Amino acid sequence: MNDIAVAESAPDLDPQEPPPPSAVGFDPAEARRRLYGDVSDADWSDWRWQLRNRLRDRDDLERAFVLSGSERATIDGIGGRLPVGITPYYATLMNPLDPNDPLRRTLVPLDGELVRSPGEENDPLGEDADSAVPGLVHRYPDRVLFLVSNFCAVYCRYCTRARLVGHTGEMHFSTSQHKKALEYIASHPEIRDVLISGGDPLTMSDVRLDELLGALRAIPHVEFIRIGTKVPAVLPQRITDGLCEVLRRHKPWMSVHFMHPAELTPEVALACGRIADCGVPLGSQTVLLRGTNDDVPTMKKLMHGLLKMRVRPYYLYQCDPISGSAHLRTPVSVGLEIIAGLRGHTTGYAVPTFVVDAPGGGGKIPLLPDSVVGRDGDDLLLRNFEGHVFRYPDPGGTAGTSVGGAR
Ligand SMILES: *Cc1c(COP(=O)(O)O)cnc(C)c1O
Repeated sequence: MNDIAVAESAPDLDPQEPPPPSAVGFDPAEARRRLYGDVSDADWSDWRWQLRNRLRDRDDLERAFVLSGSERATIDGIGGRLPVGITPYYATLMNPLDPNDPLRRTLVPLDGELVRSPGEENDPLGEDADSAVPGLVHRYPDRVLFLVSNFCAVYCRYCTRARLVGHTGEMHFSTSQHKKALEYIASHPEIRDVLISGGDPLTMSDVRLDELLGALRAIPHVEFIRIGTKVPAVLPQRITDGLCEVLRRHKPWMSVHFMHPAELTPEVALACGRIADCGVPLGSQTVLLRGTNDDVPTMKKLMHGLLKMRVRPYYLYQCDPISGSAHLRTPVSVGLEIIAGLRGHTTGYAVPTFVVDAPGGGGKIPLLPDSVVGRDGDDLLLRNFEGHVFRYPDPGGTAGTSVGGAR
């Protein structure tokens, strides 16, 4: 889909006559020279420079890309909705001439965003209703989702928390809110697992993150801490020596949001390698998105690339029905076909669990392609990855369908 070829010369950016996108090769290094040729290596590899210089408005986008009519109209019409934010580093991974570029579709708004389709909500997962205290979602018995920030390095158009993030302009963490959430966790001994997310926790300073992880580690019943983040994919410059020190001290796990193999650059490989070397196990979370990663070859390439970087594919999410997302969502069957195309055909570690997060607060519900065909007397009939049916002797077992959800 996104064949990155080294361009012979800078692509011609005459908006009057864009060459057919498929004919244009592009190269992130070339894009950096063209767009940020006067930026020193020191600035470029400084994560705060990357955040300060994010593409935020139509002029910024217009400088980096040849915008389509849909993109241009939507940027102008976005109003108070989820703003645009793209790090310069990540912008150089996108084809400047192709609005269908798989990464560009995830961050540059399209006009479908302004259309609310049936079943769509601003808070599809009912997180606000499940919030024990503001910013803390206690939905499952033994674990909580702690939203520690409303700032992200980039703003995904399919964000399930678009209602919360990106609206303060500046980094914004509320110490008093953190304190209330920590008190809640401390007073609920059944909470053994804290997932810190947001917003993106890795956009916090090392000092703030160190304090927060330290405060969680000081609660005796909290035995497992993980960080949900997209930073390693979109801002690998953030993985500094200082951050590594914090990670080594508190030993969280990490779930990284990855969408497409084009993200797996040498910078990202280095960042993930550094995190893994801190003793932090890495998992991935991917949202299934129309036109980005909704086919088996792309997803297989992504999962293989992640394993090479010591990232274990964890969840593949059906896209949540957030307002204005119909153009980005696929039918659930596409996710099942992707799982069927992976399971058995490649390394088991490369196969994520496909889940639908149930609207209204039902939580994550895993879906698998049907492998139980039925029963024949004492035999359970099972279909393998090649479509062949096998018998498993299962005397006394019940009807095939009742084991359909088992693994
Ligand atoms: C996803 C999620 C978790 C973590 O679920 P796991 O299956 O343990 O990864 C916890 N709380 C909420 C609200 C979540 O959405």
